[in-house]
Amino acid sequence: MKTKPYAVIGLGRFGTSIAKRLFEAGQEVLGIDIDETKAEDAELFLSHTVVADATDERALTSVGILNFDCVIVAIGNNMQSSILTVMILKDLGVKKIIAKALGKHHGQVLDKIGANLIIYPERDMGERVANQLLSPNMLNY
Ligand code: ATP
Repeated sequence: MKTKPYAVIGLGRFGTSIAKRLFEAGQEVLGIDIDETKAEDAELFLSHTVVADATDERALTSVGILNFDCVIVAIGNNMQSSILTVMILKDLGVKKIIAKALGKHHGQVLDKIGANLIIYPERDMGERVANQLLSPNMLNY
């Protein structure tokens, strides 16, 4: 598989699991978090991590964010930071932005400001579990 550089902003459970999986699959992954402990924890399984506030345009520029083919914004609970980060990435010219939304309104705003793909982790996982339960191959629960 061709290697692509990815940046994952926000190393909570969601961001960490994406970053880890991409890295295990041989991709180049930079993890970014405002929280030093989160960045340090991720150093155990990622080659590069940076402590930075993604709502600070200069911080994103200084990590060379434009060198990444795809940037994943995995900040959820702090909606303001999530939206501001996507806006800055868009303004800087990042080509592919994937962002996590906590709910419908959050997702609508992310869509309006130009996120290319919006993920609703709880909703998507709920649908996946239901589909698995409905699958004829699933053991009866
Ligand atoms: P998860 O559900 O993925 O575990 P969480 O509950 O830890 O997430 P979130 O608010 O979604 O909380 O934050 C995810 C990560 O994003 C956290 O590790 C947090 O430190 C980081 N984060 C929040 N704001 C910023 C920011 N401005 N810049 C960089 N990282 C940020």
